[in-house]
Amino acid sequence: MLRLTEIKLSLQHAQEKIKTAILKKLGIVEDDFIRYQIFKRGVDARKPHAILFVYTLDVEVKNEAKLLAKFKKDIHVKPAPDTGYKFVTFAPSPQPSPTRGEGVKSMSRPVIVGFGPAGIFAALILAQSGFKPIVLERGKAVKERTKDTWGFWRNSKLNPESNVQFGEGGAGTFSDGKLYSQIKDPKHYGRKVLEEFVKAGAPEEILYDSHPHIGTFRLVSMVEKMRETILSLGGEIRFEARVDDIEIGYKNEHGQVQGVVLANGERIATNHLVLAVGHSARDTFEMIHKRGIYIEAKPFSIGFRVEHPQSLIDRARYGSNSGNPLLGAADYRLVHHAKNGRSVYSFCMCPGGTVVAAASEPGRVVTNGMSQYSRNERNANAGIVVGITPEQDYPGDPLAGVELQRELEAKAYALGGNNYAAPGQLIGDFLEGKPSTEFGEVAPSYTPSVHLTDLSSALPEYAITAIRGALPEFAKQIKGFDLPDAILTGVETRTSSPVRITRNDDDLQSINTKGLYPTGEGAGYAGGILSAAVDGIKVAEAVALSIVVG
Ligand SMILES: Cc1cc2nc3c(=O)[nH]c(=O)nc-3n(C[C@H](O)[C@H](O)[C@H](O)COP(=O)(O)OP(=O)(O)OC[C@H]3O[C@@H](n4cnc5c(N)ncnc54)[C@H](O)[C@@H]3O)c2cc1C
Repeated sequence: MLRLTEIKLSLQHAQEKIKTAILKKLGIVEDDFIRYQIFKRGVDARKPHAILFVYTLDVEVKNEAKLLAKFKKDIHVKPAPDTGYKFVTFAPSPQPSPTRGEGVKSMSRPVIVGFGPAGIFAALILAQSGFKPIVLERGKAVKERTKDTWGFWRNSKLNPESNVQFGEGGAGTFSDGKLYSQIKDPKHYGRKVLEEFVKAGAPEEILYDSHPHIGTFRLVSMVEKMRETILSLGGEIRFEARVDDIEIGYKNEHGQVQGVVLANGERIATNHLVLAVGHSARDTFEMIHKRGIYIEAKPFSIGFRVEHPQSLIDRARYGSNSGNPLLGAADYRLVHHAKNGRSVYSFCMCPGGTVVAAASEPGRVVTNGMSQYSRNERNANAGIVVGITPEQDYPGDPLAGVELQRELEAKAYALGGNNYAAPGQLIGDFLEGKPSTEFGEVAPSYTPSVHLTDLSSALPEYAITAIRGALPEFAKQIKGFDLPDAILTGVETRTSSPVRITRNDDDLQSINTKGLYPTGEGAGYAGGILSAAVDGIKVAEAVALSIVVG
């Protein structure tokens, strides 16, 4: 199989043009061609009036060796690498029994705390390699969770254990389902994740689109399918099973996990505990800190969510091609280095989506964004956030970042009127430093509602100054970005985890607690659905190797 890169075709090209381009590139006739498959498809929109699709193609031909020799100096014609995921080990038979393993050195079944992308993929890989994991998830199964989450958005009734952050599927279940990641993927973990998503019902194109997304409704049914797969392989998944304590035995100051205690007092023994709790498990962070498990504060970002008409973003990005269904709703990625030394950037951009209430604690307001697969809502939204660090902004205690988040979220709740309305302001007023009193051409999508106010007290001054400086700069890249009627809502605080549960690079176990495998976004080792899922796979491999090899 050959891999051809940088094959460029016009936006409206007919399907058969791909084959024609292959024959032309390789200088072969139809008889020498067997078949092709799209490996990646990107969009080159640098010239909005002449947008191109850019393909990476895997091509089967007769006389492959001869063609490779002919193109040996061409970096765009190479042998296609193997992209299949390979399991590192399997449970020896007989399989581990429900409580005690047989034929393996370490005895207990692995336990996974949290069933978001990291926990799902840790469980899936362990189940597929025969280890029968037990999953403990504090929230509800996804269908019931959906009712609670929508209930909060409609009626302002927050269930602190079942919401956007907590429950089957994890934080990204009600999201845009963007699956982009900058991660390097030499072991094809990312490919494995995408293939499993497709098996569970995701559209096939996520395998090759350079900016794949799934959308909320499909994610819900995919999560259920993956749950069924894990159960069919002997895994066990328990909902409304919050882990409130971790039992650790000590030998010469070195801790070893012995088990966990659930909120109902039940104890489950294990020597292999995967902690995949996400970035909002603040009570769990407090508990593990109290237990002496090493954690440290890490950087994250704070800011607002911005909403523009999607048509404005489409026009700025795609010019006369705006609205072309082949391109879909346009996205953007923006960065600005502010004069006060801060970096401002767009975060989790959701084309054609809605701003959602993402709080998990009573009396606090947090924004985030989601969309459906079609991305056809009226507004585009994105976080506009400022990077902050423990050294500069919340020094001292490892949990100081959590406290800062809480403080800002409580302030947003008060600014919104103490009823889960998000405080909001029009960009024009924000730039002029005066409170907003009336919506203009952009209707906000956040529910239960947006309360217009002055956002200048919602964030520390350095963040407000940096965002004020960034908006006109962003308008130089996306024409109209500083539209006076565009709406800012606050606050965006859950951009990533404020803590890291530090682990060793080699065995992926906590640096001071053996048998504890921190993973995913909450542990500080991922940022987004794909990278959290990939991290879950890595940790599953480490657990499997530890059980088999010791
Ligand atoms: C509204 C929204 C939109 C998003 N959009 C995108 C997007 O489009 N693309 C993208 O890549 N990322 C997106 N993200 C981020 C993405 O969801 C996260 O990066 C990802 O879910 C992290 O995965 P995780 O498995 O590490 O943690 P999580 O998904 O947070 O899962 C952690 C799980 O652990 C459970 N848990 C916590 N504490 C305990 C405990 N003590 N006991 C038992 N269970 C516990 C929680 O209930 C939760 O289900 C979005 C997030 C939100 C909130």
